[in-house]
Amino acid sequence: MKKIEDTIRIYKSKKVKKTVENFLSLYRPFFKKGQSVIIKPNWVNSRPDSTGATTNTSIIEAVIEFFQKIGTNVAIAEGSGYEFDTKKTFRVLGVDYFTKKYRIKIINTRECPVKTVDIGGKILGKISLPTEVAEADWIINIPKIKTHVITGVTFCMKNLFGLLPDKERRRAHVFGLDSSIADLASYFDRKTINILDGLIAMSGEGPVFGDTFNLDLLICGQNIADIDRYTCGLLKIDWHKIGHIRAAKKLFSKDIQIISESSENMHLPVFVLPTASRLYRIRYWGVFAFDFIFSRFAGKSLIPWIVTRFGVRLNIINEKCSNCRKCIQVCPEGAISVNSKTGFPQIDFEKCRYVRCFKCFDICREDAINIRGFSRPHKKQLK
Ligand code: SF4
Ligand code: SF4
Repeated sequence: MKKIEDTIRIYKSKKVKKTVENFLSLYRPFFKKGQSVIIKPNWVNSRPDSTGATTNTSIIEAVIEFFQKIGTNVAIAEGSGYEFDTKKTFRVLGVDYFTKKYRIKIINTRECPVKTVDIGGKILGKISLPTEVAEADWIINIPKIKTHVITGVTFCMKNLFGLLPDKERRRAHVFGLDSSIADLASYFDRKTINILDGLIAMSGEGPVFGDTFNLDLLICGQNIADIDRYTCGLLKIDWHKIGHIRAAKKLFSKDIQIISESSENMHLPVFVLPTASRLYRIRYWGVFAFDFIFSRFAGKSLIPWIVTRFGVRLNIINEKCSNCRKCIQVCPEGAISVNSKTGFPQIDFEKCRYVRCFKCFDICREDAINIRGFSRPHKKQLK
């Protein structure tokens, strides 16, 4: 398939539906009735879109409505971060809203029929892909503008990683994450249209626990690697420091055109990249390497177990707690209950571990919920 245009379009607007319609209309002659369209949001975990962790619902709705008007078959495909439970993530995020309102299918990419495809990459050659993703005519990629503790940033290219089944994710983590992301971007490049969601962006400890910024920004176009490189520039991040963008250099267009569709001032805050040390990265890689071998024999992964034991964990500090019990009310997993001995709420982490939505943390006004682990949210930015 030939690339439609070598253009990045920047929109700074609160009128999401109109903006998305205007952008997609530019490609309208290439969309045909009966084609299959897969929407790929970022639903990495169950934190709501207001935190900047997940794709803004209004963009997804605008895309669905645009393609349903044409008569295409639209579905959403996503798999949560490896250490979260995708079904629980979907339930807490309330994504059945899309199923009920638009009657569209939501594909859990970690538990669905797959097809072997040779994507011809450096690391990812013959891989399993969700069948409907492999056979789609178009992928509408709606990632977030976010930082990422391991890959530095997660914009358009990294978002495609969520299309991979667990087995392929493990392989990518062990044999070269950056090159694997570039492989995927290269394979999907021509049939992907990107709407990079910067309505609410995330800096610092992304992709889940970072600080939130309202930017009202959408960066759109087909050139997946160029958009990521350009967005780095806009946020004053040196793209040379981002391994997967470096690995995708061959995708850069020589004639990229930038069109700002907005007269608003494009002054943006300076984004802070996460501070994962080399040791942390080595440990992270080691866990995946161990799991790669373990899962071959055991037929299951140990990563969720490991990550949730040594990663981000929550507990309540009784000395700070006012016993307002709001945390109990908001917990979607029923993971918080009153300890009969102390009279204070306590978290049953077994029930929380694969969700970790932080609704309790966000609602607590006493700073009584303690978070342990390398990467964690900062209270002041969330209030
Ligand atoms: S919301 Fe905070 S202060 Fe209120 S009961 Fe829960 S931990 Fe205690
Ligand atoms: S304990 Fe807190 S983080 Fe865990 S599921 Fe409940 S509300 Fe979410």
